[in-house]
Amino acid sequence: MSDRVIQLHMPLAHEDLAYRVKELYDRIDAVYVSAARDAGFSCAGCDGAKCCAVDLILHTFAEQLYLRRGLDTLDAARRDGILTNCTLTLHAKESDPFGESYRDAVCVLNEAGLCALYKYRPMICRLAGIPHLIFRPDGTKRFGEGCGKFRSEIEPRLPDLRIDRTAFYREMGSIELGVVRVTGRRSTSRTVAETLAFADPDQLIP
Ligand code: SF4
Repeated sequence: MSDRVIQLHMPLAHEDLAYRVKELYDRIDAVYVSAARDAGFSCAGCDGAKCCAVDLILHTFAEQLYLRRGLDTLDAARRDGILTNCTLTLHAKESDPFGESYRDAVCVLNEAGLCALYKYRPMICRLAGIPHLIFRPDGTKRFGEGCGKFRSEIEPRLPDLRIDRTAFYREMGSIELGVVRVTGRRSTSRTVAETLAFADPDQLIP
């Protein structure tokens, strides 16, 4: 029997995955908070409508699992409210993915500009707002701009400020590779609503 077949029969170690995701999120937060503090940048006063897009995608099982775990920390009433919102959002997407009721919606976790699962929010949410760069494996660089608030308030005085996301993306890739090794498949990409709509996190497994 090959190593690969043995690995396919190993259970996914959810605790290990959650631990690695949390560790990575902590590193991201430290870099982001430091950059934001030095620049004098803050999300205060922003409703997050642009950053908290309804079709924000989570590409890895590890992040989906972590977010789904966050939902389980809420009390039943709050959780049910979010799940109802997920159902409505998924229905709007299914009925007319390009229609106004779906395209004009924000992420199901955005409650009056605040994230209902802030401690569990995905990597992309933690990095939003400040411009970034990524070093690709072929040595080229990719740049991404900041949000409107950053562009108007910070960029004129700090035009070169960028967060290097390369190490973060590599680490997330490494975590997800562990999932692929165990399951033999790539994870299904899902929106936040699609991720939370699963009653049991095990159903998320690719
Ligand atoms: S998970 Fe939270 S921070 Fe991320 S898009 Fe949704 S509401 Fe915004």
